[in-house]
Amino acid sequence: MKMREPFSRHQRQLGRDMEEEVHGIVIVGGGICGLATALALHRKGIPSLVLEKSETLRTAGGSIGVHANGWCVLEQLGIAPELRETADVVTEFHDVWQQEQGNKSVVVPVRGELRWLKRKDLIETMAKNIPSGAIRFGCHITKIHPANPENHGAVLTTLDGSVIRAKALIGCDGSNSVVAKYLGLTPPRSFPRMLLRGFTRYPHGHPFGPHFLRLRCNGLFVGRSPMTDQLVSFFVAVWHPGADATKDPRAVRAFVLERLREQCSDEVVEMFRDLDPESLIVLTRIWYRPPWQVLLSGFRRGTATVAGDAMHVMGSYIGQGGSAALEDAVVLARCLSRAAATGGGGRRELREERIGAAMAAYVRERRLRVARLSLESFTMGMLWATKSLLTRLACLAIVALLGTNTLGHTHYDCGRL
Ligand SMILES: Cc1cc2nc3c(=O)[nH]c(=O)nc-3n(C[C@H](O)[C@H](O)[C@H](O)COP(=O)(O)OP(=O)(O)OC[C@H]3O[C@@H](n4cnc5c(N)ncnc54)[C@H](O)[C@@H]3O)c2cc1C
Repeated sequence: MKMREPFSRHQRQLGRDMEEEVHGIVIVGGGICGLATALALHRKGIPSLVLEKSETLRTAGGSIGVHANGWCVLEQLGIAPELRETADVVTEFHDVWQQEQGNKSVVVPVRGELRWLKRKDLIETMAKNIPSGAIRFGCHITKIHPANPENHGAVLTTLDGSVIRAKALIGCDGSNSVVAKYLGLTPPRSFPRMLLRGFTRYPHGHPFGPHFLRLRCNGLFVGRSPMTDQLVSFFVAVWHPGADATKDPRAVRAFVLERLREQCSDEVVEMFRDLDPESLIVLTRIWYRPPWQVLLSGFRRGTATVAGDAMHVMGSYIGQGGSAALEDAVVLARCLSRAAATGGGGRRELREERIGAAMAAYVRERRLRVARLSLESFTMGMLWATKSLLTRLACLAIVALLGTNTLGHTHYDCGRL
């Protein structure tokens, strides 16, 4: 017997139409970039709505290194003093190459401010400075289509079938971005690498001083940086051991511990062995948008654009993805604010015809900066992975030209909000 559907198509459509909401600026994704963008807009008096698919703030992910360029942004957002209280400054890089013929080590002073923040602290500090109700959790955007042929505005559909109309759409939804797809961007690529990161607690204080150790030995790359006097952030990158070995996180941990025992000092082994299990993140692929795509892609469609990893995911080789996302937020809010007119009650309003121009200005301002960062990150990734002498030489030339080793990219100030 054929079952009759409880509602006709017309009735279902009517129900959805009734649920349809209309908003000004909608930000998809409440990660570092989405929250920074909402906060930057809020500081400029422009309201926005953040749609986040998780049910709560996504605070997992251990730590994040924030360099001088990131701190410039945090200053503009008004949250730098509070965050400085949570993390100590790092003053030196200790680079060590462990080789059969003996170790080679170099000490490089950190120019500018570098601190390792807990992602939780960064995310929570931004979120609490955004007006309540401006972040909507459990809102997973699955489809987007243009509101009209001129692409002024977008219509977003959520996983549960609700419809949200946005005058302006900002995709801060990470590397697998639904907004990037709507803009027609090519999906990012990935390197098959295994990377573990987290932090370790030293209740009686750690002995490492304000020094960031970067240890390379035989296909293994270990980073270790103090966050506070009792907390140390680390990452371990190893050659991918094959898909089977990465299915069980406990097996991955055991595999890495074994590799560290074979090649590293007790200090490094103990740090990894005693890690805080809640902080551990295991990645088996490193996502990146190739620099030539960042240079050439169309990052705007009418009144929609992307920021953060959705625009320029770049792996963690130079530790700049997060800070670049923060820079995007300030530049985008500045451009939108220039386009906003003050309406009644002092509230700032954006007219659709000016939003597109503001977004175009944002893309123009960001393109070369993020293309350079993407190139540096890509080159460092290749340098670590390649066995070809020619590729190595080409990579070393790019690194020297761009000043990657001296962290030239961190001496960048994206300007006032
Ligand atoms: C291992 C590792 C180490 C790193 N270390 C550093 C570092 O030391 N320093 C640094 O500056 N950067 C670092 N990065 C990069 C940095 O973490 C990212 O660049 C940054 O988190 C990007 O923020 P985002 O907000 O653009 O994206 P994400 O953090 O990915 O946030 C995207 C958000 O969008 C939500 N979302 C996704 N799709 C949808 C949808 N369809 N609907 C609704 N919501 C959606 C997600 O739930 C998420 O909350 C590192 C990255 C990795 C992987």
